[in-house]
Amino acid sequence: MAGEPQADCLFCKIVAGEVPATIVSETETTVAFRDINPQAPTHILVIPKVHYANALELSAAEPAIAGDVLHQAGLVAAAEKVDETGYRIVFNTGPGAGQTVFHAHAHLLGGRDLQRLV
Ligand code: IMP
Repeated sequence: MAGEPQADCLFCKIVAGEVPATIVSETETTVAFRDINPQAPTHILVIPKVHYANALELSAAEPAIAGDVLHQAGLVAAAEKVDETGYRIVFNTGPGAGQTVFHAHAHLLGGRDLQRLV
């Protein structure tokens, strides 16, 4: 069923507490944890607790929760104090864009000079 936990999904297992993660915040609808392979001093993943393959599928099915993910990313950025210097929120979507975990997630990156992408 759409949104239900998937047995083979790493991030569903983190939501369920079956795989350890360094959790920095948790809300009714989201979990934020440190990326295991950080690409910046602050590299945190913000995910919805519900399972959708990517951000666009999440926003189509559960727009309020997609908003929660974005809102939470901003709160975590402030808690990490990267809001003062600037930060980037990235949703890799599809293998061609580097997506490797097919459970929607926002990368919050900050704490270093981030090159302009576009
Ligand atoms: P994607 O490549 O946009 O799908 O991002 C997946 C991210 O998950 C990568 O940046 C990985 O480093 C990260 N990752 C993979 N496994 C774990 C884990 O067990 N804990 C935290 N982050 C993870």
